[in-house]
Amino acid sequence: MARTDAIVLGAGIVGTSIALHLAKRGLSVALIDRGAPGKETSYGNAGVIEGNTLFPHPFPRDFSALMRVALKRAPEANYHLSFLPQVAPWLLAYRANSAPERRMEFAQLMRPLFSRAISEHEALMQEAGATRYLRKEGWLKLYRSEKSFAATARERDYAASLGLPSRALDVDGARALEPSLAPVFRQAVHWPGAASVSNPLAVTQAYAARLVALGAFILTGDARSLRRTGTGWSVVAEEGPVDTKEVVVALGPWAPDVLAPLGIRLPLAVKRGYHRHFRPRGNAGLVRPVVDAEIGYCIAPMEQGIRLTTGAEFAGRDAPPSPVQFDRLMPTARELFPLGDEVETKPWMGSRPCFADSRPVIGRAPGQPGLWLAYGHAHWGLTLGPVTGRLLADMMTGATPFCDPAPYRAERFGS
Ligand SMILES: Cc1cc2nc3c(=O)[nH]c(=O)nc-3n(C[C@H](O)[C@H](O)[C@H](O)COP(=O)(O)OP(=O)(O)OC[C@H]3O[C@@H](n4cnc5c(N)ncnc54)[C@H](O)[C@@H]3O)c2cc1C
Repeated sequence: MARTDAIVLGAGIVGTSIALHLAKRGLSVALIDRGAPGKETSYGNAGVIEGNTLFPHPFPRDFSALMRVALKRAPEANYHLSFLPQVAPWLLAYRANSAPERRMEFAQLMRPLFSRAISEHEALMQEAGATRYLRKEGWLKLYRSEKSFAATARERDYAASLGLPSRALDVDGARALEPSLAPVFRQAVHWPGAASVSNPLAVTQAYAARLVALGAFILTGDARSLRRTGTGWSVVAEEGPVDTKEVVVALGPWAPDVLAPLGIRLPLAVKRGYHRHFRPRGNAGLVRPVVDAEIGYCIAPMEQGIRLTTGAEFAGRDAPPSPVQFDRLMPTARELFPLGDEVETKPWMGSRPCFADSRPVIGRAPGQPGLWLAYGHAHWGLTLGPVTGRLLADMMTGATPFCDPAPYRAERFGS
């Protein structure tokens, strides 16, 4: 029986970053996943490190936007009808959290994490020899109507009051940054305080390689084998059982599979999302991720090609893929950027793990000594992986946390 100071379950960007922070503090660590690091949700995202993010994605507030979603005409969202009764309580809670005062509360409670997101990634990238994936070019949001651009004024004013830069651009200004975009939009906002990566999988893999170089183990195993022992916890890996005092559940959308049998039932839902890679036509290219805000998709330059990512789909995590949003948005996307042949034959699908208040859970598991939680990073798991690693490692090793962890406690759901 092997014994470590800590086991981290789940080798996505969140779990790998936590394991790395623990190993850097001198703990012996085993990172356990049923597959290889970074190959699930952390593989297929848009690669944006959103240091600038203030507000969560809102529930549609005006009737016409809601009707477009309900009638399955919205490119930005889709749902499985049979799944609605199951997800309805979560959707109602999400709607309540879209009230202006709750959105402002999110902005304030999450700022300590978002404000350190880029510097924490950069520090790990430097150690891991991965800075070549980092682009500090911000991201660009496009608006096809004056009305939707005007609706960003409050966010930009608030950002300015916090010293977060944003630049409103006309079509020429935006095309000076991204000459391959066609002038099918009216206005743009450049957020230089964001960064992006050209290969999210390679970033997680580089952090995992650094972890091994520090003497930690990456093992293959099923997290559902987690059991309490007399002295702590045990997990069965292919290499044999591993004992530990402290265990971290960083399983993203799969966290409930391990937590429910332990009696921990937190209200997590998933927002599924898809991507497809395209070769750009001719000499076309992008320097940074670009969001077509009203249509609700992102095009991001990746090593694999131009990655087009979709908005949210409400469906069971394990239900078969239904990438119908592409049918709705491809004509407008092709209008904006010269997308050529597809690189792969099938779209990729992943599940953003989301709580209704859009905040992750980071901290102790209620009623289970030695068990720690780090999941539910929603639209920002790539962004927040390293900063989550620092915060949880601070808490687990008894150091003074760099920020107040109370807003991320599991107990906020009343458990
Ligand atoms: C289309 C799309 C676009 C996105 N764009 C962005 C973006 O631009 N910026 C951003 O910050 N975020 C973005 N996100 C969100 C981000 O990708 C996620 O929040 C993040 O990847 C979650 O990371 P994680 O480590 O928690 O989960 P995961 O990466 O899913 O890792 C969980 C791990 O647990 C393992 N696992 C599951 N079950 C078991 C088991 N029983 N035993 C052992 N191991 C198990 C899995 O194999 C997996 O490796 C996007 C997401 C999507 C879907």
